[in-house]
Amino acid sequence: MNGEKRGPLAEGERVLLFGGTFDPPHNGHIHFLKSAIEAAKPARVVVMPSCIPPHKAASATPAALRLAMCECFKPLFPVLEVSDWEIRQGGKSYTIDTVKMLEQKYPGAWVYLCVGSDMLTTFTEWRNWQELLRRTVLVAQSRETGDMPALRAAARALEAEGGKVLFTDSPALPLASTDLRAHRRDLSEVPEATRRVIEENHLYER
Ligand code: ATP
Repeated sequence: MNGEKRGPLAEGERVLLFGGTFDPPHNGHIHFLKSAIEAAKPARVVVMPSCIPPHKAASATPAALRLAMCECFKPLFPVLEVSDWEIRQGGKSYTIDTVKMLEQKYPGAWVYLCVGSDMLTTFTEWRNWQELLRRTVLVAQSRETGDMPALRAAARALEAEGGKVLFTDSPALPLASTDLRAHRRDLSEVPEATRRVIEENHLYER
């Protein structure tokens, strides 16, 4: 995995964590990560496919293939690791555990956490969300046209609890993996590297 070759981060450098089910990764994810990199200016990016997401049904797609599909993120940043850490832990993946792992791995670094709008507005349902707010800076992105007022309100409520929320400047690119799995959207909306894995492994066929 590239990125592993570099040495430790300097004090105060930023690690940008992009977690998700990625079943499959799509152009909305690419758009978000590009914008989050511009906003957060990280020294390193970690893309982390979850094992079992706590808030939705377990993915039917094998974890190894979700990892392979995440290779599409690598061209976005020179020091970007696609990590199998949550998958190796097994069971439900809680972001608080992943953040603590990153803090140990990169002492002195700041963890910036990507949250799409659905994640921002449900943030207080996350395990140990108050502790997460203390330990991270949230990098938020609109997903639906017109969702900014709700996002600003959610951010204000989290800031009142001591959280830090950084918005990307990018407009929404509405798209969800669910729509791709259900054939409501087609493979023109996934990156080329991901499309190859889907086709070679006959994923999401009717
Ligand atoms: P599903 O439809 O299976 O629930 P999803 O499309 O929401 O999947 P995830 O892998 O769960 O994708 O998302 C990972 C992260 O990317 C989350 O923070 C989510 O909010 C964000 N995200 C997903 N799609 C978009 C999009 N189109 N624009 C911005 N952020 C997005």
